[in-house]
Amino acid sequence: MSCMKRETALPSAIGADGRDFNAFDVMQPRLPGAIPATARNGGRVKANNVPPEGVYLPNNNHLAPHMRSPDYVQMSTAAAITLGVMPGKMHRCGCTRCLNLLLTYPEGCRANCAYCGLARHREADRDYADRNFIRVDWPAVPMEQVVDIVAKDPAGSPFHRMCISMITHPRSDDDTVTVLKTWTRRIDPSAIPVSILSNPTTMQRADVANLKNLGADIFTVALDAATPEIFDRTRGKGVDSPHSWAKYWEVLEHARDIFGREKFGAHIIVGMGETEYDVLSLVQRLVDMGGHSHMFCFFPEKGSLMDHLPATPRDQWRRVQLARYLIDYAGVRIEQMRFDSAGRVTDFGLPRAEIDTIIDKGTAFRTSGCPGKFAEDISACDRPYGDSPPSNVASYPFELKPVDVRKVRHQLGLERSGESYAEGDDLEPGNWI
Ligand code: SF4
Repeated sequence: MSCMKRETALPSAIGADGRDFNAFDVMQPRLPGAIPATARNGGRVKANNVPPEGVYLPNNNHLAPHMRSPDYVQMSTAAAITLGVMPGKMHRCGCTRCLNLLLTYPEGCRANCAYCGLARHREADRDYADRNFIRVDWPAVPMEQVVDIVAKDPAGSPFHRMCISMITHPRSDDDTVTVLKTWTRRIDPSAIPVSILSNPTTMQRADVANLKNLGADIFTVALDAATPEIFDRTRGKGVDSPHSWAKYWEVLEHARDIFGREKFGAHIIVGMGETEYDVLSLVQRLVDMGGHSHMFCFFPEKGSLMDHLPATPRDQWRRVQLARYLIDYAGVRIEQMRFDSAGRVTDFGLPRAEIDTIIDKGTAFRTSGCPGKFAEDISACDRPYGDSPPSNVASYPFELKPVDVRKVRHQLGLERSGESYAEGDDLEPGNWI
């Protein structure tokens, strides 16, 4: 049986009220405020009506540019650096392996998810193209320019996968199809496979089938919340947002039927008030369906309705990361694991020696997502520092070194005898995003 030594957790691992997990009662979002009429539906952007001019880097003191998909897409700072359209360096990362393309409109996303930097309530103070999302800026780039760069040498590209991320907008379904066609006209999807991060609220079964027929490889649903109650409070009625748990599951089941085993999955954010048992039950359900879970550690996104709440304590996050990896890739079932009265993992269901081997490999603690070209259990979508600062990494966007494994063991309370980790041992100097 594995032994949890919680008293050895880092000070930064302690969550609200001194607890080592983010409990439901403390993870209550703020209510969205009123939006001035002039700012609604991209009002400021449309009033400025500035024609787009090539690549748009957020916060450059431009007047808000009038850009929209399918001609324009946004991409993460890491993807823009890797593509070569903006300068910058990432702590301990040479590049990202996933070109994540986010649909963009002056009206922005019409949903209001409480943890999200793109949510509608932000119209009050920030134009869509200038909003932070998973901790970073998202430059906007003409889609043809993206394809021009990648089509020069798809097989030699640093990108192992492209992902189209839909948002909640009336044009989102049609524009996803156009962006996919623009890509596959010049880039063979067998050289760089395409994933779809869907918006189920606007989709029907025929939309899922159409994307598969047009060459999409993997279809994912961003459930984000691990339980129906958390879903409703963070993405549904609780924050005046249009999403429903039932509709998300309906589309996830379409994806299972149409894309098939290993070709669909769901995003889950850990630490929004669910128990570890809740989230791992969901992970098991997805594996039993034939899919995978892609996990994010809750981080209080600046400007979001949850920016006053604590990030997920590292020991909670590491327990869930390890248990999820065992279920997804090592054939362990949740029934073999044990949990305490607060739903925390107390036994991972394997002998300690086997757990040690898996921890030492480090893969369980890397960013999870759709696979790239290295291995089935190594995500192309490495999202550098999307769910933590580099100083306290949640999802490792690179292969762990021995010092990183020591840190993870310290956070888990599973150190080897004679080993130690001191805060900062893993940090390297440099320019960080
Ligand atoms: S639908 Fe997606 S992009 Fe829109 S607010 Fe919700 S999480 Fe953010």
